[in-house]
Amino acid sequence: MDLTSYAELAVQLVNMGDELKNPFSLRALLEETGRTEAAARLTRRDIDALCELRDELAGVFASAAEGDDVDVVERLNGLLVRHPVHPQISGHDGQPWHLHLTEGGRVADALAVGSVMGLASVVTRLGVDRLGICQATPCRNAYLDTSSNRSRRYCSERCASRANVAAYRARKRGA
Ligand SMILES: [Zn+2]
Ligand SMILES: [Zn+2]
Repeated sequence: MDLTSYAELAVQLVNMGDELKNPFSLRALLEETGRTEAAARLTRRDIDALCELRDELAGVFASAAEGDDVDVVERLNGLLVRHPVHPQISGHDGQPWHLHLTEGGRVADALAVGSVMGLASVVTRLGVDRLGICQATPCRNAYLDTSSNRSRRYCSERCASRANVAAYRARKRGA
């Protein structure tokens, strides 16, 4: 169980936006991130539940970007109550014994428990300021800042270079 990869999953779910309603896109994301069993079991009901979760997770990132630590913690605590952890030791597919946060149940439940625990772990280990919203307007993608100097401000290289070009043009106009 890698909680940082679950925190990344939360980011990916938020950034999928309405594309999350497309089962093919969500299945592709799950397969790309090694969650093949979840991808195979995904149902329409899971997708509806994940769309609701997505909105809640987006709220967490929005509050974090505004520096509202108390609101972030309240939102995450609320999500932790609604998506409780039921840890089980598992050893499937020839892997060594490892912890699963929850066993059985729906795909959406497992992904919700994972992404909420992932964010809770980042917030408590690294700080609320590690969650952010891309500053290259109009992009509103979420990101996770795992850099050693907390310097991340954009969701992607693409947005970083777009913002740099815009800043350069603004300087040139100002000169
Ligand atoms: Zn496992
Ligand atoms: Zn961006």
